[in-house]
Amino acid sequence: MKCLTILGCTGSIGTNTLEIVAAFPERFDVRALCAGKNVSLLTDQVRQFGPELAVVLDEAGACELDERLGRGHGVRILFGDEGYREAATLSSVDMVVSAMVGAAGLVPTVAAIEAGKAIALANKEVLVMAGDVVMSLAVEKNVPVLPVDSEHSAIFQCLQGQDRRFLARIHLTASGGPFLNSSRNEMEKAGPAEALSHPTWKMGKKISIDSATLMNKGLEVIEAAFLFAVSAADIEVVVHPQSIIHSLVSFVDGSLLAQLSLPDMKGAIAYALSYPERLTSVEPTLDLAELGQMTFERPDDERFPCLGLAFEAARQGGTLPAVLNAANEIAVHAFLDERMPFFRIPALIEDVMARHKVMTSPALSDIMDADVWARQTAREMI
Ligand code: NDP
Repeated sequence: MKCLTILGCTGSIGTNTLEIVAAFPERFDVRALCAGKNVSLLTDQVRQFGPELAVVLDEAGACELDERLGRGHGVRILFGDEGYREAATLSSVDMVVSAMVGAAGLVPTVAAIEAGKAIALANKEVLVMAGDVVMSLAVEKNVPVLPVDSEHSAIFQCLQGQDRRFLARIHLTASGGPFLNSSRNEMEKAGPAEALSHPTWKMGKKISIDSATLMNKGLEVIEAAFLFAVSAADIEVVVHPQSIIHSLVSFVDGSLLAQLSLPDMKGAIAYALSYPERLTSVEPTLDLAELGQMTFERPDDERFPCLGLAFEAARQGGTLPAVLNAANEIAVHAFLDERMPFFRIPALIEDVMARHKVMTSPALSDIMDADVWARQTAREMI
């Protein structure tokens, strides 16, 4: 029995994870559930999965959860940073599913690694912000960091049993998002509804906007560089609108290996939860003849400048990826709140990056400082 803490249990990844847990009750037991503000859904999840600890963002949410659960519920309820840290380090837990969105997931994920918990990592911002610190700590604590992002799961699967000395390149596939075939003019007029309507994946709002700008792919390049210890220069992005090949690796002899499945996050989540074993899927599987064909093209750097910004942040390293990430989070929220047009997102991030004095080999505290600075600077510029 594997005992789990789920950070971000009310989100898209969190709820998919809980569906897998519900399908395999003999293999997984949820010990702690961590939500943000969605107390209503958390209440249902606590009733269904019976964790020992439930955590929400603030005290008002904790009181509401206590009331909703009713007298004598027997669940410990905490809130805020201390609560998330407690959930991430519970002695009864084997694995922490890191599925909060954005920078909020960094501190509890680091706490979980320090406590020796295996990590199933969906929250890519953790590695974008502090990849060196997090991966060095994981090595020091002998903790596995298992990818949940479908692209990184694909690469991880393709590399099983391979001699890493012969790896030549990583090829990250991108669906291209809702604006793959839109003109610049259409993109300039796009509002949140258009940007959120992803053609192949159902995801949370922030990652959906990141997919529309291709920043998601940029963040994934940085994530892959840290997870697989390669240079970002050895990672290529290729647009594959059908989202069937989740990524590929190529070797020095010219061979490419790919991982394919229908676009459903449950496969990648299940692999991280059960690795090195595989769980029997109850979802529909890929019918190649019905699919018929798959297509590939190069990303358009001019309409999607976020990708280039992420490569630049990866190239310079230090505190710059954290600054890119923070400016992007502020820009995405401003766009979703209709305080900023879509095309300003990359321009704002570029401006914030240009003002930043990069610190090399930063400690976690330097990264947090850079994150605060970038958020403040981005807000002032908006
Ligand atoms: P969602 O927006 O659907 O869910 C985010 C989760 O984080 C929710 O449980 C939310 O709580 C919680 N949360 C938000 N802000 C805070 C905060 N300040 N403190 C604590 N908890 C918070 O996101 P996704 O599930 O789509 O994505 C989660 C992560 O996984 C992201 O980093 C994303 O990039 C990555 N990912 C997602 C994929 C997907 O298919 N969705 C694919 C690959 C990676 P509440 O709702 O209760 O407020």
